[in-house]
Amino acid sequence: MAKSSRIPGFYKLPVEERLKKVAEFANLTEEEIELLKKEGNLNLEIADRMIENVIGTMAYPFGIATNFLINGKEYLIPMVIEEPSVVAAASNAAKMTRSKGGIHTSSTGPIMIGQIQLVDVKDPYAQKRILEEKEEIIKIANEQDPVLVKFGGGAKDVEVRVIDSPKGPMVITHLIVDVRDAMGANAVNTMCEAVAPFIEGITGGRVYLRIISNLADKRLVRARTVVDKEAVGGEEVVDGIVSAWAFAAADPYRAATHNKGILNGVIAVALATGQDHRAIEAGAHAYAAKTGKYMPLTTWEKNEDGDLVGTLEMPMAVGIVGGATKVHPVARIALKILGVKTATELAEIMGAVGLAQNLAALRALAAEGIQYGHMRLHARNLAMMAGATPEIVDKIVEIMVRERKIRYDRAEELVKQFLK
Ligand code: NAD
Repeated sequence: MAKSSRIPGFYKLPVEERLKKVAEFANLTEEEIELLKKEGNLNLEIADRMIENVIGTMAYPFGIATNFLINGKEYLIPMVIEEPSVVAAASNAAKMTRSKGGIHTSSTGPIMIGQIQLVDVKDPYAQKRILEEKEEIIKIANEQDPVLVKFGGGAKDVEVRVIDSPKGPMVITHLIVDVRDAMGANAVNTMCEAVAPFIEGITGGRVYLRIISNLADKRLVRARTVVDKEAVGGEEVVDGIVSAWAFAAADPYRAATHNKGILNGVIAVALATGQDHRAIEAGAHAYAAKTGKYMPLTTWEKNEDGDLVGTLEMPMAVGIVGGATKVHPVARIALKILGVKTATELAEIMGAVGLAQNLAALRALAAEGIQYGHMRLHARNLAMMAGATPEIVDKIVEIMVRERKIRYDRAEELVKQFLK
């Protein structure tokens, strides 16, 4: 019988049974089944409560970036990422930033936006009517989350926009919510749902969507650093970095890669601390394109002393309560290593890491050519894929780099030779 992905009631089965079904479907070996079942630092019971249809867990490397001095305070940065050289690069750049006092940050506070989409509005004064009822809307919203209000958060303001869409004009209400230490999506969505009938009532329109916006442009972090020119490798390297930034400022093809480098750092911390990293990435890219042109999230310039000055500004919707932050035991440990007490402090650290990561990438590109470092790591990956044992992996890397033949077939050949 042909295999089908239609498995009624899959979600109701225990983890073990689900795994059995998948093993049959994909011809998994006993060894593979055991590996999926193996509980690391996230046990299956918790995993099964976090998402649906769980059949196992998957571990990622958890590294620590060192050398971070942010607002005069020392931080060790937990990073979870699959890409080699990110953690080393962050540590290296953080060391450079120490030359003139590290990285300094600020932020706007944890303000998120919820959107309520209103269509079929006949009343030309709908926008005005919503704004006239601002206090009532805020009151209804805040009744949904007394805990948040108790901590000083909650709905604070209402804004209304009329937009032209391919389906005609729409009246979009923005609920402005201080979410304190939460990422805020659930909190804001609940509020939007609660105020929707009231908005329909006062305008005679019909509400469709009621959901948070990931363009969190009222929840911005800013980071700034001055790096001594000698620490980056001299004034020529400073010029190279500024020129690399200018390239990104002028060209979206480059800006996308420039921002990807920033996100290497930001998302690694997001994963370690159990954040919704898609929300951060969506916000980052939308903010980068806010002027209508996709721009880099950082700027790099040279000051009158010839030193390098870098700044970053981006949305950072992160939480230390809610979501997976409290559920995943390792995320809790990551937060403890960081020693953060508020979501805002975490957001600012992540901005600082993004800035340092960007510095590392630009310096590598501008100064050394990123190829050399990468090639070595690539050679290492190939050697390990080809079955190199820890005793021989360095020797194989050396040979492949020397021969400039960093290819899987060569790695295989060398592994065979060494293990003969
Ligand atoms: P949550 O609802 O689990 O936790 C937030 C709640 O915790 C608050 O509403 C409040 O009642 C309570 N709380 C206790 N102490 C608090 C404090 N000090 N500060 C603030 N709140 C405190 O989580 P959330 O942050 O509202 O939502 C995050 C989740 O929503 C994530 O899992 C995310 O993946 C998911 N999500 C995201 C999107 C999106 O980004 N578009 C959409 C839907 C859901």
